[in-house]
Amino acid sequence: MTGPMSGELEELYQSIILDHNRRPQNFRAMPEASAHADGLNPMCGDQFTVWLKMNGDVVEDVSFQGSGCAISKASASLMTQAVKGKTKAEAEKLFDSFHGLVTGHGGGEDLGRLKAFSGVSRFPLRVKCATLAWHAMRSALDDAAKGPASNPTEPQA
Ligand SMILES: [Zn+2]
Repeated sequence: MTGPMSGELEELYQSIILDHNRRPQNFRAMPEASAHADGLNPMCGDQFTVWLKMNGDVVEDVSFQGSGCAISKASASLMTQAVKGKTKAEAEKLFDSFHGLVTGHGGGEDLGRLKAFSGVSRFPLRVKCATLAWHAMRSALDDAAKGPASNPTEPQA
């Protein structure tokens, strides 16, 4: 039986996830980061920190560290590759697209290799694994935007 999720495609997706789990990209702390955020998924034991370095509105660098299952780690690794060089708005759009993909609400056309996580929508408990680093990335983005430079008139309390 063939279809959009043929065995061959599923195997390709599996190998992308296993490869990024074994050799995660941008897997390091970033002391010079503009912001960072922690993500914890107690259901599975996934725990990651995501660092972001902004240059104006652009994500100049992004990294992560921590431990978790293959899906959470591979998703974090592919996330760092996907958002590097993107503007804040573009990174948020990717978040929405990826979230739609893994929750089965559509989207994902612009995701490239991140489509490897499309099968996650069939396993609701795995959605948190796949989105953990993405939520941390988005909250670090918000923190970076709230930095002192962008709010010069805000009184110091
Ligand atoms: Zn997990």
